[in-house]
Amino acid sequence: MAAPSPIAASATTTGLPVAMHDSYGRVIHDLRVSITDRCNYKCVYCRTGELGAQYPELGIGEYLRLIKLFVDLGVTKVRLTGGEPLLRRGIVDLVRELAALRTPDGAKLDLALTTNGHLLESLAETLKSAGLNRVTVSMDAVDPAVFERITRVPGSFATVLAGVRAARAAGLTPLKINCVLLRGFNDDQIEAFAQFARDEDVVVRFIEFMPLEEGRLWTPEIVVPLREIVERIGKVLPLKPLAPRDASETARRYTFADGVGEIGIIAPVTQPFCGACSRVRLTSDGKIRTCLFSQLEHDLYGRMRAGENDEELHAYILRTVQGKEARHHIGEPGFLKPSRSMVHIGG
Ligand code: SAM
Repeated sequence: MAAPSPIAASATTTGLPVAMHDSYGRVIHDLRVSITDRCNYKCVYCRTGELGAQYPELGIGEYLRLIKLFVDLGVTKVRLTGGEPLLRRGIVDLVRELAALRTPDGAKLDLALTTNGHLLESLAETLKSAGLNRVTVSMDAVDPAVFERITRVPGSFATVLAGVRAARAAGLTPLKINCVLLRGFNDDQIEAFAQFARDEDVVVRFIEFMPLEEGRLWTPEIVVPLREIVERIGKVLPLKPLAPRDASETARRYTFADGVGEIGIIAPVTQPFCGACSRVRLTSDGKIRTCLFSQLEHDLYGRMRAGENDEELHAYILRTVQGKEARHHIGEPGFLKPSRSMVHIGG
């Protein structure tokens, strides 16, 4: 990784830096915001099975103010997540307000949403009209029975599939499907997912399982590594690698021999991409997390509540980003799980 570099060198006429850099020279332009840590699914690899929030939610106007602070500092991409973000009352208003925001260069934000898709069928058109650009839907199987064993919600496969189709019809594209693979749970779905990507005209992203679950399921052996996924799909549908579009792209992308369809593999465990990470996260209770595996959280909302002005909050964000971790330590001796699990951080 590059040697530490000073805080962003140049500044705009407002005195704010033109881009936010961390101490390793990485440009931070991607913000993930959890707007609730409640979820209506109880995926076996994520939740223990209890429902309900563990952390408070902020008002929609408060999320907007916090997000705007990051946009002032160079964030260009905002992804709303949770918990399950579509459970959150006011999400359409938030999307509408975010769509009206402009970066310091006058550009619109790249506005995306990650959802389990359960409530998407009825909301897709409305979200698109409000200004949402894209959605990513989490689907961990294409076999309905396997899917419902994972989500622990009867009838969920048909509901989510209808949501995926509604989102595609509404133009929330390119539509991505995230599939977390676990050996012995859903690794028999890999080849069928490749076919699904082609049949449904969606981009399927396989994600290696990380130690971020509420319980204690993670072992190195349960992770299905990138190499195995590529080999198995290649045996039934030959793959062609696609060139990365930018340095911070997390997925290794492939198309099929005839160029129809795309799959990608996000391999944070076996092929980490921390050196190119461009992300920070805001939890549903307004804390900044500079890495999924951070041991520390930074209470931006607390400072806002205490009456700090935008200038002070900007300075706090810039200082916090300077402390972004070099990398995660999954699988290393002494690795510590963060105090919050994925559903309470915002995936
Ligand atoms: N409810 C929304 C959804 O289902 O997409 C957003 C929140 S969910 C926590 C975000 C993503 O994180 C999902 O795609 C989920 O599969 C993924 N995820 C959850 N636990 C994970 C883990 N331990 N490792 C990797 N991905 C995980």
